[in-house]
Amino acid sequence: MGQTIAIIGGKQTIHNLMIAANLFAVISSKSETSIQLIDFYLDNPTNHIFFESIISENKEIKRKIPIYNKERCVYCGACSKFCSYKGIIFIKAIPYIQIIQNACRACGACFFACDHTALKSTEKLLGSLTKYSTSNNETILNGKIGNDIPYSLPLIKELKKQINKDFINILDIPLSKPTQLLESIKNVDFILLISENTNDSLEQLKQTLEIIKGEGISTSVFFNKINQQENHALEFLETQQIPIIAQLEINTKIIDAINNQKLLVNINSNYKELFLNLFREIERLS
Ligand code: SF4
Ligand code: SF4
Repeated sequence: MGQTIAIIGGKQTIHNLMIAANLFAVISSKSETSIQLIDFYLDNPTNHIFFESIISENKEIKRKIPIYNKERCVYCGACSKFCSYKGIIFIKAIPYIQIIQNACRACGACFFACDHTALKSTEKLLGSLTKYSTSNNETILNGKIGNDIPYSLPLIKELKKQINKDFINILDIPLSKPTQLLESIKNVDFILLISENTNDSLEQLKQTLEIIKGEGISTSVFFNKINQQENHALEFLETQQIPIIAQLEINTKIIDAINNQKLLVNINSNYKELFLNLFREIERLS
């Protein structure tokens, strides 16, 4: 049966990467259901480096942005009024119009606002989507945002379209602004929050839980740093009735393995058992 699991990152990207990749590897070796790993680290998606794979698809993600046609414009200002992103400067007194390409979010509202067909469209490249096929015939999908693109929502939406409800989908998601985070977790079945069991991380944990709580999605925590002396994170989760589903102290040995592109589940049977148990627990709690 299909399932979508969102893994939301803690302070360090590398910890999230390690948990997502190892979970993907154990499920891939045990489950009869097809599985795909979708990487939402749009600046630098790296999950694929752990697996033997080939690129099976690579497509550019583009959106339509407006170009202003001086001959047709009657300087009514409607386009500027409808733009929520300060993408069109309009000065009636001169009159003057300018489209600010870097501010435009390609939402399309100005095209509807203009009754004089004074806005044509051109395509802007937002980023790319790359699909890898692993040697087990499983799929890893990466979204990569363009260097000069200051907004990620269209690319996140594009990645979300790749979810296959008949598959097990693992979404590797960074902590980000509430809008991006909420879009990334929309309609998922389970959330695994990666955090440290320290006072320093408690505030971040509280903030993330505050953002996602309205979605009503079953949520658990994976502690990647365990501090026996400081148990405020533990106490807080108990009061919120959020289970701690797994704990693994990330040490230098583990970081070395990650840097050498090695999966923990291939190094040591204890790690394999830990990630298998993690998957069983996710199935039970979803
Ligand atoms: S497409 Fe949307 S964001 Fe871009 S200029 Fe038009 S209204 Fe503004
Ligand atoms: S809505 Fe159309 S006609 Fe009005 S100012 Fe904008 S481009 Fe010009």
